[in-house]
Amino acid sequence: MSKSKLPNRADLILDAQYILCRPEQAPLHDHSILIENGKISGILPTTDSQQIRCDSRVNCKEHLLFPGLINTHTHSPMSLLKGVADDLDLETWLNQHIWPLEGALMSEEFIKDGCNLALAEMIRSGTTCFSDMYFFPSIIAACAKQAGMRAVIGLPILEFPSAWAEDASGYIEKGLLLADELNNEALLRTALAPHSTYTVSPETLRKISTLSDELEKRVHIHLQETAAEVKQVVSQYGMRPMEILKESGLVNPHLIAVHMTQFTQEDIDELSKRNANIVHCPESNHKLASGICDVTSLINNGINVALGTDGSASNNDLNMLGEMRSAAFTAKTASLDATALNAQEAFAMATTNAASALDLSKHCGSLTVGMSADIVAMDLDTIEASPVNDPLSHLIYSASRESIRNVWVAGKQLLRDRKLTTLDEDELLERAKHWRKQIQTTQASFR
Ligand SMILES: [Zn+2]
Repeated sequence: MSKSKLPNRADLILDAQYILCRPEQAPLHDHSILIENGKISGILPTTDSQQIRCDSRVNCKEHLLFPGLINTHTHSPMSLLKGVADDLDLETWLNQHIWPLEGALMSEEFIKDGCNLALAEMIRSGTTCFSDMYFFPSIIAACAKQAGMRAVIGLPILEFPSAWAEDASGYIEKGLLLADELNNEALLRTALAPHSTYTVSPETLRKISTLSDELEKRVHIHLQETAAEVKQVVSQYGMRPMEILKESGLVNPHLIAVHMTQFTQEDIDELSKRNANIVHCPESNHKLASGICDVTSLINNGINVALGTDGSASNNDLNMLGEMRSAAFTAKTASLDATALNAQEAFAMATTNAASALDLSKHCGSLTVGMSADIVAMDLDTIEASPVNDPLSHLIYSASRESIRNVWVAGKQLLRDRKLTTLDEDELLERAKHWRKQIQTTQASFR
């Protein structure tokens, strides 16, 4: 930015040791970020920023600033279910443990408490935006709004009844009403979220495709998570899940297909040709032994790949720092190639690629002038971080979430010196203890 174009004032200035503005750009050293009306209004050497008037200036001179991380696939209320059913394959985990527990516990209170716990964990680990898929999306939206988080609220669609809706038409109807209600929310978007091709019929998927085209909404769906899923869908419909989506008209830039541990060259060609998006959830795939998504092949074929944690019951955390590292390590081991999925690519999956998948590239995913001030400050003045020979390497391969000190979303500070500003930590802990007892009683009743 030339000096003549510099703003003469800012609401807030952050003076940083290092700034990672975008994955492909070298880190800036001793630079400052100017924030005005919740947006980034300038990035310049700290020495040049001294003359600019501001309401507030935060010293991040021992910190790395980077774009808030984007968790492109989670089920936030499931944070209450972490540790309830470990070391099981997907089918056993889902059919014998998670669905029965959800059936017994599902209530507005469960959703609210679980979502708030997830929001707190995400903010404290540098996530500023999440794409959710769960029952009672109205409550998830209200919690995200209250906490000041950016979110894409999935409007869940299944064929079977839940406490939220009776059947597919009911889910769609309630979802669209909510989408209308949230239309003017600055930080919230909605996406159609059919659970999968094994829980939503081809007929409903065709209806969702029409709605997605009409309303220009993303479609967030689990796809080809395991070989068993593919086999089951083939025996049920005579087509693979990807073929069903293609028939339904859902393979297009609106598609956000999650997992994809199973795919053929035809699948890749179709996804690439139609500019669809994939979400990789390496830790959930590892834990449930679902398989490995061959991210390298997807990227080499020009497919946009974002990153997500999945829910806490299959991860068991919502830590995008760990997820970036797992993605890099998984790709290297799977391909026996240490150059596969380098630090820059892993960082892109949690920032620019994720923003693109969610159609939020004009708002977040990078630190550039005009973008929303969704910013994370990581402490570098620690034993674990020293010496910082390469800030990006530290972020991907070494950093822990405990080193995240400050987080802003649209210029509003949500974490200040590791303290949440919009959520009550004591209350969150109390509510989690309450649910631990409820879950234990429910589990005992199943035996
Ligand atoms: Zn999932």
